Amino acid sequence: LDDRLPVEDPRDEFGRLASVFNDTLGRIQDAFERQRRFTADASHELRTPLTAMRSVGEVALQRGHGAADYREVIGSMLEEADRLTALVEGLLTLARADSGRIPATRERVDLGALASGVVEHLRVLAEEKGQALTLDCPAGVAARCDPALVRQALVNLLDNAIKYTPAGGAIRVGAALLPSGEAGLQVKDDGPGIAAAHLERIFDRFYRVDPARSKQEGGIGLGLAIARSVALAGGGRIEVESAPGSGSLFRVVLPAA
Ligand code: ADP
Repeated sequence: LDDRLPVEDPRDEFGRLASVFNDTLGRIQDAFERQRRFTADASHELRTPLTAMRSVGEVALQRGHGAADYREVIGSMLEEADRLTALVEGLLTLARADSGRIPATRERVDLGALASGVVEHLRVLAEEKGQALTLDCPAGVAARCDPALVRQALVNLLDNAIKYTPAGGAIRVGAALLPSGEAGLQVKDDGPGIAAAHLERIFDRFYRVDPARSKQEGGIGLGLAIARSVALAGGGRIEVESAPGSGSLFRVVLPAA
């Protein structure tokens, strides 16, 4: 349905008004389309683990003979339940962010200490994959932000670097004062990198470059969307530099303190 107004003369007042109207209408239609796609994707993502739980349960009912069969089934059901929990929590975080209801503080935060806490939190995952995870933080780099939200953004970025970088790869986490005068927290990996065509979409909800890979890694498709939302609520923004074959660099940019 095309509700746009005809623009007869783009220079007169009516023409200008009609152009503004058409532009606004286009943006509203885009927003509705994004919302529609998001609802469809979210429903699909929520249904997948539920279907998996049902089917392993049904198979066990029909064919389960002993405790070992049931243990295995319960194990898969718990995995799917964890996935559902992560999805629902992620969706709740995004819903709060959308309505501007993420409580946030602004305080002076030592970025080196924050980065070091995140690295220690996730170090075992990198060790399991034989990756070299290093921390490079000069003392005294501080930002004005919400520490819990910025921490969550960094956790998601580092978790992705570990997931998508092959075994034996290298990941560097750093804090630094940037040439712009801002402060930055960054995660650099030597993984597969991301092609330009995907780069502008990876922050979209449920967008994955390689869906099978993401699923195999236990990804729920919301990590970067959440990282971007919480970084924003926490006082910063996220930048990315990446190219196939040269790894990826994700950076949370914050006002320096
Ligand atoms: P997922 O749950 O799939 O990891 P994310 O929103 O965290 O969802 O990331 C979206 C997609 O961006 C991933 O599926 C992956 O294709 C790509 N991606 C994110 N981080 C990296 C990285 N460090 N290296 C390569 N690809 C990445």
